[in-house]
Amino acid sequence: MRMGMSIVENNAFSLPDGYPTLHENSSWWHAITLAANRAKEALPHAEVRVERARQLVLDGRIEIVHSSLAKVTSSRGTFYTSLINGDCTCVESGRRNTWCHHLIATWLYCSCRLYLQVVQPSS
Ligand SMILES: [Zn+2]
Repeated sequence: MRMGMSIVENNAFSLPDGYPTLHENSSWWHAITLAANRAKEALPHAEVRVERARQLVLDGRIEIVHSSLAKVTSSRGTFYTSLINGDCTCVESGRRNTWCHHLIATWLYCSCRLYLQVVQPSS
C-alpha cells in the first residue's frame, strides 16, 4: 500500500448487494461526503483527484467484480483496480507512484458501502 490508506476495511467487499442506488437515498450523499473528506485528509495534494473520484462514485461507475477486484468505467475507458495491493491498470497509476482517481473512487465507494452497512443495517 503506497499511501498508508488501506482500501480494504473490515472486509467491506463481501457486503451483499442491494443498497439504495445513488440519488435515491440522501444517506449516500452523507457517506460520500464523509469519505471524500477523509480521502482529502489522507491525500492532501490530491484534491482534484478526490473530486474526480467522488464524481465517478456518484455516477455509479464503480463495480465490484469479485473480492479482490473492482471495475471503474471512466470517460477514458475501463480500468481495473485491485482491492488488495492498491494497483490500477491505468497509465497514470503506473507512471506516478501515487493513487490515481480510479483507486480513490474505489476506496470511496467501498467506504460508503461500509458506512451504510454500519449506519443502516439491512436486517
Ligand atoms: Zn487508475
